[in-house]
Amino acid sequence: MYDLIIRQGKLINGDIIDIIVNHGRIIDIGPAVATGLNANKEINLYGHYHISAGWIDAHTHCYPQSPLYFDDPDLIGVASGVTTVVDAGSTGADDIDHFYTTARKAKTHVYAFLNIARTGIRNQNELADLTQIDDNSLQDAVKRHAGFVIGLKARMSKSVVGENGLQPLLKAKMMQQKNGLPLMVHIGNPPPNLEEIADQLVKGDIITHCFNGKPNRILDNEGDLKPAIQRAIERGIILDVGHGTESFSFRIAEQAIRSAAYPHMISSDIYQRNRMGGPVYSLAIVMNKFLSMGVSPERVLSCVTINAANFLRLPRKGRLERGFDGDITIFELKNQHIELVDAEGEVRVGTQQFIPIAAIVSGTDIVVADPIVTNRSTHNDISV
Ligand SMILES: [Zn+2]
Repeated sequence: MYDLIIRQGKLINGDIIDIIVNHGRIIDIGPAVATGLNANKEINLYGHYHISAGWIDAHTHCYPQSPLYFDDPDLIGVASGVTTVVDAGSTGADDIDHFYTTARKAKTHVYAFLNIARTGIRNQNELADLTQIDDNSLQDAVKRHAGFVIGLKARMSKSVVGENGLQPLLKAKMMQQKNGLPLMVHIGNPPPNLEEIADQLVKGDIITHCFNGKPNRILDNEGDLKPAIQRAIERGIILDVGHGTESFSFRIAEQAIRSAAYPHMISSDIYQRNRMGGPVYSLAIVMNKFLSMGVSPERVLSCVTINAANFLRLPRKGRLERGFDGDITIFELKNQHIELVDAEGEVRVGTQQFIPIAAIVSGTDIVVADPIVTNRSTHNDISV
């Protein structure tokens, strides 16, 4: 008797397949492989609903005790069709222990990028005081929480670093060398300038808020990729969307995509306020914005599954294959109009949308997605 069998799920390429999950892992997948077999839990999707590896949101804020940006991991996670969420620097060395304890209670898999400021984001300007950056306490926290802390986070914009310019980033790069974790850098208003930030980054480092419309945008005034960003992409820097309340512009994203600068990861930068009041609402809504710009459903899905797993170094996630974790998202890809608003108030109308139906974590927890959680009742949508 297996733990879970899903019958007749539809892959994004249209193939209809069964999946068998046991002890948290996918043990078989393929057309009709579950015929004649039984499991404790069985779901039949009758070839109607889509399935993919569980969606991964690489930039969220889900430490409930954080005073500024907080949410419940399961509301932005499984209730929204997302099986793995990564908190991007809400906590630093001082409160990562408490965050870890809290996160273990969630059904959603939770990981953390540790803020290089030991206080995390308790105030808006955590890097304005360089004494907040303490190498010893950071390295200790990384060691204590190996496997939970999967990267470092540095917010490099004027409101965060104050008069310190590039210094916090230079310190982050030194600290990173001792633990080898990827560094996620937030960009926004200068100083420091995007060019000097990008020049410090190496293969595997992540630029989040990559399509922001602020002065530190990745495009020059002619709409071309800034040379420092072009060089960074060639070196293997990862572009992460990190939509957030203020950090996603359709105009920038559209122009970047025309220059073939596709995002490597699509993430939400979601927290309670921008989930309930927009413009983020959910990871699915952010994914739908890319569909509305003509990005293929296959590419959008890759950004929240295999790409995210690779760049976040989560080796057993992101694929529906034998031996991988039994994390699965069930969804519809519906031809239905949807009005979408970016962080600048610009509107686009999409004609196709991902609608999460359920999230399955480790083959055991099956959570039906809740449209109310993301504050998007269907009256906003016009059926075709
Ligand atoms: Zn953020």
